[in-house]
Amino acid sequence: MVRYFNPQPATRNPQPVFDVIVIGAGASGMMAAGRAAEIGARVLLLEKMPRVGLKLGITGKGRCNLTNQGDINAFLESYSPDGRFLRNCLARFFNQDLMIFFEQRGVPLVVERGGRVFPKSNQAGDIVSALLEFVKDNKVSLIKGQSVKEIVVHSGRVEGVETQNGTFKARAVILATGGASYPKTGSTGEGYQMAQLAGHTIIPIRPFLIPLKIKEPWVKELQGLSLKNISATIFVNGRKDRSEFGEMLFTHFGVSGPIILTLSGRVADVLKQGRVEISLNLKPALTQEQLDERLKRELKTHHLKGLQGILKLLLPNRMIPVFLTLSQIPGYKKGNQISAEERFRIKNLLTDLRITVTGTRPLEEAIITAGGVLLKEVNPKTMESRIVDGLFLCGEVLNIQGKTGGYNLQAAFSTGWVAGEGAARRVLSYE
Ligand SMILES: Cc1cc2nc3c(=O)[nH]c(=O)nc-3n(C[C@H](O)[C@H](O)[C@H](O)COP(=O)(O)OP(=O)(O)OC[C@H]3O[C@@H](n4cnc5c(N)ncnc54)[C@H](O)[C@@H]3O)c2cc1C
Repeated sequence: MVRYFNPQPATRNPQPVFDVIVIGAGASGMMAAGRAAEIGARVLLLEKMPRVGLKLGITGKGRCNLTNQGDINAFLESYSPDGRFLRNCLARFFNQDLMIFFEQRGVPLVVERGGRVFPKSNQAGDIVSALLEFVKDNKVSLIKGQSVKEIVVHSGRVEGVETQNGTFKARAVILATGGASYPKTGSTGEGYQMAQLAGHTIIPIRPFLIPLKIKEPWVKELQGLSLKNISATIFVNGRKDRSEFGEMLFTHFGVSGPIILTLSGRVADVLKQGRVEISLNLKPALTQEQLDERLKRELKTHHLKGLQGILKLLLPNRMIPVFLTLSQIPGYKKGNQISAEERFRIKNLLTDLRITVTGTRPLEEAIITAGGVLLKEVNPKTMESRIVDGLFLCGEVLNIQGKTGGYNLQAAFSTGWVAGEGAARRVLSYE
C-alpha cells in the first residue's frame, strides 16, 4: 500500500517531516523518489495530476520505448547539446540496469529494430505500474493532485516547497517536472519557472522531435503514407545541411515520422536563417548512375506500357499521381516514348523530391522540449544544483534532449536514479 501522507502542509511545524521532496511523478520523478527511499530517506512525492506517469503512459504510441540497446558511445552521441553531461548518470544506471529493473518487477521486455526496447506486452501502462510499485515498496508518501508553486530557498539552501495548500519542508528537493509539451499530461513547463526563481539560468524552450509544416499542397494528398528506407536532407538557403536515413510519414499538415522528428530540432534552429527545404531521396541505396540504368532498363522492358504503370515498379501507388503532376509527363506516355530529358526529370524527382518547410507544429505537440536548466549549473555526478544547496534536478527540465529510439526515457530514468541517490546521501549524511 502507498502510505498516502495526510496532506497537511508543515506551515505550523518547523521540523521537516521528510528528508526529500520530489516534485513530479513522471518517469524521472518516480525513479528518483523510489531510489532515494530505497537507500533510507523519508520521501514525499508530489504530483499535480490525479494520476501518476500520464506522459509515460502514452510514450512509444502507448508501447513505451523505454531505452535502447546501444552502447555508451551511441548514447552519448544521441543527445544535444552535450551528451557528455550524461556520462556519469549512464555509467551509474544504464540500459542493462534499467532492463533488469523492469524485468525483476515482472515486466518482460523485447528488443526491436534499431535496438529499441519495449515491454513484451506492448503496454506502456506496465512500465508505469512497475515504477509505482517501486515507489510503494519503498514506502514513499505520494500525494496526487498537489501542484507545487515554488521551491522554498533561504540563504542559498533549499528548505522545502510551496504548494496551493501551504509549505512542505524537507532538506532536499528534487525537481522532476518534465518539459512543456503535451500539457494535458501535466507537463506544462512550470518547473522551468520554479528553477529560474530559485536562481537557475533557463535556455529558451522550443519544440524538439516535432512534426514539420510543409508548403507544397501535394503533401496533403499523401497523408497517412509512410516511406521506409529513404533519406532526408535539410537544405538551408540552398546549402546542404544534415541528413537522416530511415522512415518518414506524410500528414495532413506536412511530414513526420522518425527521420523527420530527428531532423526537426535542427530545422527549428535554422528556420530563422531563411529558406529551409528538405530533399527526399527515395532511392538512397543507388547512385545516380545506377538509378539511371535501372530507369533505362524498366522503360525498355516495359516499352509498350504507360509511365503510370512503369512507376508502380519504383514507387508506392499513392505517390504516382503526385509524381506525374510534378514531372509534367502524361501517365499514358509509353516507355519507348519517354525522352532522355524526361527520364532525367523522373530520376531527379526520385532522388531529390523537394519540400519547403514553413514551420514546426506547436511546442504542445512536441515529443520533447529543447532548452531548460543550463547544464553547467548542475553537478553531473549527483544532479545537485550548483546554485542552490540541496536542490536536485532530473529529466526533461534539464537542457538535454535525445533523438528517438528510447534515449529520452533512459536519460530521465538515469538522471532520476542519480538524483534520488544524490539527494538521499546528502540528507542522510547530516544525521
Ligand atoms: C507522445 C510522446 C511519446 C514519447 N515517446 C517516447 C518513447 O517512446 N521513448 C522515449 O525515450 N521518450 C519518449 N517520449 C519522451 C518522454 O516521455 C520524456 O522524455 C519523459 O517522460 C520525461 O520524463 P520526466 O520525468 O522528465 O517528465 P514527465 O514524464 O513529463 O513527468 C513530469 C511530471 O511532473 C508533474 N508536474 C509538472 N509540474 C508539476 C508541479 N508544479 N507540481 C507537481 N507536479 C508537477 C507532471 O504532471 C508529470 O507527471 C515521448 C513523449 C511524448 C510526448
